[in-house]
Amino acid sequence: MDNVTRPRILVVGAGFAGVGCVRRLERRLSPDEAEITLVTPFAYQLYLPLLPQVASGVLTPQSIAVSLRRSSKYRTRIIPGGAVGVDLRSKVCVIRTITDEIVDERYDYIVLAPGSITRTFDIPGLTDHAYGMKTLAEAAYIRDHVITQLDLADASQDPAERASRLQFVVVGGGYAGTETAACLQLLTHNAVKRYPRLDPGLIKWHLIDIAPKLMPELGDKLGRSAQEVLRKRGIEISLGVSIAKAGPEEVTFTDGRVIPTRTLIWTAGVVASPLIGTLGEETVRGRLAVTSQLNLPGRDGVFALGDAAAVPDEAKVATGVEGAVCPPTAQHAMRQAKVVADNVIATLRGQALKPYVHKDLGLVVDLGGTDAVSKPLGIELRGLPAQAVARGYHWGALRTGVAKARVLTNWTLNAVAGDDFVRTGFQTRRAAKLKDFEYTDAYLTPEQVRAHVEGTGTGSG
Ligand SMILES: Cc1cc2nc3c(=O)[nH]c(=O)nc-3n(C[C@H](O)[C@H](O)[C@H](O)COP(=O)(O)OP(=O)(O)OC[C@H]3O[C@@H](n4cnc5c(N)ncnc54)[C@H](O)[C@@H]3O)c2cc1C
Repeated sequence: MDNVTRPRILVVGAGFAGVGCVRRLERRLSPDEAEITLVTPFAYQLYLPLLPQVASGVLTPQSIAVSLRRSSKYRTRIIPGGAVGVDLRSKVCVIRTITDEIVDERYDYIVLAPGSITRTFDIPGLTDHAYGMKTLAEAAYIRDHVITQLDLADASQDPAERASRLQFVVVGGGYAGTETAACLQLLTHNAVKRYPRLDPGLIKWHLIDIAPKLMPELGDKLGRSAQEVLRKRGIEISLGVSIAKAGPEEVTFTDGRVIPTRTLIWTAGVVASPLIGTLGEETVRGRLAVTSQLNLPGRDGVFALGDAAAVPDEAKVATGVEGAVCPPTAQHAMRQAKVVADNVIATLRGQALKPYVHKDLGLVVDLGGTDAVSKPLGIELRGLPAQAVARGYHWGALRTGVAKARVLTNWTLNAVAGDDFVRTGFQTRRAAKLKDFEYTDAYLTPEQVRAHVEGTGTGSG
């Protein structure tokens, strides 16, 4: 039986940040101390860093969708839906459920962890023609799409069509874009052996970025090593270049080149979830400005973390980098989750809050097969040792034993038996571009949130 007088903790978002927080709250709070509720559109926590391996078929989609309900201490109430607005004054979160109903959820403490969405720019045709790499559906879709291009190019009698179906463009030279281009290039390289009518020389991958370097976090030497691996594999890297225009059958680069292609994958950075804009509070480049205790100054019981929040990077600030903010990485989100849970509990119990301080542990970049570069604790690694560290790190970070077993089985099976390059076709004919997967038009404005809670009377209590 529920005790309605318990304080209500509402966590928004079931990613690295939200799930990490919920699990710690479940462990550290006794059931009669607080009621924990989680709002999430999906029934799983997505392990995003392994998405490129789903797109390239090394892992099945299910293996990186970690169950929210498989946990020994699981007792959280899960609302299947997305928060579309929050009224901080009346402590009401407005939720659109997965059946499209609008419900209001009251809370005493709120933890905002809705993550980020793909950052886009005002480039003609971009949102209509580009694919993203931020959700499980997008990764599964891209895999099918790439295999579809091979199938159609193989069947086509038209040399121009063949050539355009066999060119692929990835925008974004961060780790997400680089891993995506590298892993998918390996997919087409291996798959083409099953298409004897196709000329492997026609397959061309482009990786472009407006920045002068790929993955600058790696440093010059390691960054160059990554570029060499990709160039040796035939991936054409263009730096200082972006997209001027995107169309259904061609993409125009800012350097004037026109590439006939049916595949534009856009991974040029992220911005905080549009939910943050509904609060009407101070932001830093779209991320909610919070203190190093991860709470909102001047607002009682409001916490935020992960990609959605601008959390001061105290470790960097201590080295003299004034105003440094934690980068949007899983590494930070997972660790902030523990601090935010402890601070919610401390607030509840009237204790002192602690600050978030974490020194970056480095970066791992899987380039597919035995190729990788990584920089754990500043040590530069390449090839197999780097790949062992990359896979070991991700494997260790998966939350459940079952997810670990699925991923390990998939890696083993893929290493031994390879890929069957099967196009499943179950997503064929559905809208699947950037604008279709990230639900950016679902959110309310701060004024709409206020009008809604006043209209329903939820805000008065
Ligand atoms: C391809 C790729 C590779 C990456 N590789 C690495 C890597 O190697 N190392 C690393 O450290 N980081 C990596 N990252 C970045 C890392 O995944 C993110 O920084 C991390 O996921 C942020 O955690 P989060 O909990 O803030 O957001 P997320 O993990 O994105 O979780 C946000 C959750 O909130 C949900 N949500 C969104 N909006 C709402 C809403 N309105 N209401 C309710 N729920 C909502 C989402 O469905 C999601 O479940 C990678 C990212 C990508 C895309």
